[in-house]
Amino acid sequence: MEGKRIHLSPPNLDHVEIEQLTKVVEGGWVAPVGPELETFEKQLCERLDFPHFVALNSGTAALHMALKLAGIRPGDRVGVSTFTFCASANVAIYEQAVPVFFESEKITWNLDPQLLDDFLKKSTLKALIVTHLYGMPAQIREIRSICEQHGVTLIEDAAEALGAEIEGHQVGNFAKYAALSFNGNKILTTGGGGGLRVESQEEYRRCLYLSSQAKGAHKYYSHEEVGYNYRMSNVLAGIGLGQLSKFDAFLEKKRSVYQIYRDTLSVFPGFEFLEEPAGHKSNRWLTCIVISEEVVELAPTDVIEALDKHNIEARPLWKPLHLQPVYSEATLVGSDNTAENLYTRGFCLPSGTSLSKKISNVLLRLFWTYFGVGVFFSVAPPPGGRNISSWNRSSR
Ligand SMILES: *Cc1c(COP(=O)(O)O)cnc(C)c1O
Repeated sequence: MEGKRIHLSPPNLDHVEIEQLTKVVEGGWVAPVGPELETFEKQLCERLDFPHFVALNSGTAALHMALKLAGIRPGDRVGVSTFTFCASANVAIYEQAVPVFFESEKITWNLDPQLLDDFLKKSTLKALIVTHLYGMPAQIREIRSICEQHGVTLIEDAAEALGAEIEGHQVGNFAKYAALSFNGNKILTTGGGGGLRVESQEEYRRCLYLSSQAKGAHKYYSHEEVGYNYRMSNVLAGIGLGQLSKFDAFLEKKRSVYQIYRDTLSVFPGFEFLEEPAGHKSNRWLTCIVISEEVVELAPTDVIEALDKHNIEARPLWKPLHLQPVYSEATLVGSDNTAENLYTRGFCLPSGTSLSKKISNVLLRLFWTYFGVGVFFSVAPPPGGRNISSWNRSSR
């Protein structure tokens, strides 16, 4: 293997973060409290038009806090997009609630509003967590109005969608709560971290209280409720401030990476991209491609393995939650297998904000894979007749 590995979405830090860290250490606020933490929350609110934001130690913690604030009780049903990362279903389990999975629509790959509407005409949910997957906003306005009609508390999982917009409005502002993540692979990183957008000062205080071990107002160690140790460290908030100063540049970079892939690869028959519906602006966190099996007999795993041989990291799309062994008993609303089809036919490409010239390596390898493996096998399958779609599934 030659050269350094090209990762999917690596962190992008430089002297700006080092200077911030130096300031934090010299200031002595190496704790889950301090001036950087407050400034980070404030600047994030300004940039994203959030009324209030509580910085926490992960996006998962933020989703958990959203369910706490929404008053979820054991046995309550919480709707979740099936096509997403496991965190939003896991937090329902933390509260002994029951996750109900919803299929994706084809337009945005996110939770299908029509299915939600049909479901709520016959049944109920206490809350709904909608993910804006890969940075593409869901049809959140439609979803919000359905939730309002049926008294369902709406939560946005905007972990992957920081900076995405619908008609000029920042994602994260369309629901009562929105969770962000600053994990290492996200568009803006603090190494690990996240936070929750809330609407009022009162909810801000409540979230801060619950995420700081529910320390009472008394001077020493008084607890009336079970709390959590979820607060972000001031050290990480320092990194976050550095990252935030480059956020617009990162966004532009992500979108231009997508544009280069799309302009170059859409000449390959059978490679499909997720286009933005009118009014939707994705942050293009990861560039995803779906291979149309009818057009080219090339499995995403073929592409992923071929790139891996040349030290390039590509990955499958998220495996739908209703297909996860841990959630095999859960209900799935919708039966057209959209999420499963995306999972078996899709993959994501290196989309780092520091990708620069290396993108040509990725493109070159994709050309080789496409014309070497794809077209060849579609004309003449190897002896023994490899069934690509079943091979593809069993190899995951
Ligand atoms: C990353 C991610 C999370 C969780 O964030 P962490 O900070 O890793 O806990 C939640 N939902 C989605 C869709 C994510 O991609």
